[in-house]
Amino acid sequence: MARTQGHGNPNWTRDETILALDLYLQFDGIVPSTKSESISELSKLLRSLPYHAEAAKQPTFRNPDGVGFKLMNIRQVATGKGLGNVSNMDRQIWAEFGQRPEEVRLIADAIKSGIIINGSEQLPEIEQELPEGRLLTALHIRRERNPKIRKMLLEDRRRSGLRCEICDLARPDLDEPLQESIFEAHHLIPLSEVGERKTKLSDLALLCACCHRLIHRAMASKTRWIGLVEARAIIVPG
Ligand SMILES: [Zn+2]
Ligand SMILES: [Zn+2]
Repeated sequence: MARTQGHGNPNWTRDETILALDLYLQFDGIVPSTKSESISELSKLLRSLPYHAEAAKQPTFRNPDGVGFKLMNIRQVATGKGLGNVSNMDRQIWAEFGQRPEEVRLIADAIKSGIIINGSEQLPEIEQELPEGRLLTALHIRRERNPKIRKMLLEDRRRSGLRCEICDLARPDLDEPLQESIFEAHHLIPLSEVGERKTKLSDLALLCACCHRLIHRAMASKTRWIGLVEARAIIVPG
C-alpha cells in the first residue's frame, strides 16, 4: 500500500473528516481509486483549507493517497472490519453522521462555500468548535457579530425591554448604551440549514455575554446543537 500518513502530517480535523465522509457516502461505501477525479478534487480542497499552514506545503499533505487512505478508514469504521488505523475522530464522525447522508451533504456544501467567504480569517479555538467544524464556526461567529444583525435584534427587543433569553438578566436601571453592552446576538440555526438566505429575527436570540459563552461551550463540548430551553436547564440553577 502507498505511504500516505507521511512524516508529521497533522491529524484530520472535524470538518476535514466530514468532507471525507461526504465523499464516502456519495459512493455508497465503495472507495474510489486514488487516481479518480473525485479523490483528487477533495485532495486539492483539503490542501487549500486555512488549517495546517506549514504542513500543507508538504507534497504528502492530504495527497490523493492520503485521502484514499482516510476513506478506507471510514469504511473500516462503517463495516467494523480491520480497525487498525482508525482514529477517534473517524469513529466519532461516523457515530454522529454515518446514518445521516443528507445532513452530511448540507454541511459539506456549507463548508465548501464557507471556505470562499472565510478566506484567511483566523479560525476560532478548537474549544469553541461547533458540530459543523471550525470553518463554519468561524462563519457562525462572524454572522452573530455582524453589526447590522445586532442592531436589528436590539431594536426589536428594545420594545419589551432588553433581557437575556436564557437567564432573564435585565438592567433597566442602566442607561441604554450600558444596557446594550451586556447583550449579544446568538444565532439559533446551524449554518448548513440556513444556507445563503438572509438572517431573520426568528433565527436569533438575545443573550447576555455570559450565557452566550456558556451555550457555545456547551454545544462544543456535547458536539450537538442546544436550544434555549435546554440551555436554560443547563445554565439556570434549578
Ligand atoms: Zn444570561
Ligand atoms: Zn451564538
